[in-house]
Amino acid sequence: MAVVAIDLAACINCGWCRRVCPTETIKYFSTGHRTHVVEPDGCIDCGICVPVCPVDCISVVDYEVPVIALTEAKTKAKAFAANQRRMKQDRDAIVARTIAKIPKVSTHA
Ligand code: SF4
Ligand code: SF4
Repeated sequence: MAVVAIDLAACINCGWCRRVCPTETIKYFSTGHRTHVVEPDGCIDCGICVPVCPVDCISVVDYEVPVIALTEAKTKAKAFAANQRRMKQDRDAIVARTIAKIPKVSTHA
């Protein structure tokens, strides 16, 4: 199996990868280089973080995540995805309600 790792020398600490990680396994450390790091045992190798990095400093490395840790990480990712779906449904409902309140513009002259 593979996980991802961050090139600490290249990371600009923007935080985008941390925001999208469904297992919250990308951590921010305010010491030293002030950078982000991946805790590999929480990584499910979904690859979501890779394309959001503006400096392409996240790459794949070989690492075997222990089975128990992988199971926990997958459970976390499922909960994250369910939460994202709920938030999207809530947003869609708010948009629909707001649009319904807008007075219709007459097309007749
Ligand atoms: S590959 Fe997925 S689980 Fe692993 S650090 Fe990136 S976003 Fe998180
Ligand atoms: S997205 Fe890239 S540059 Fe930004 S914090 Fe993550 S690894 Fe660092």
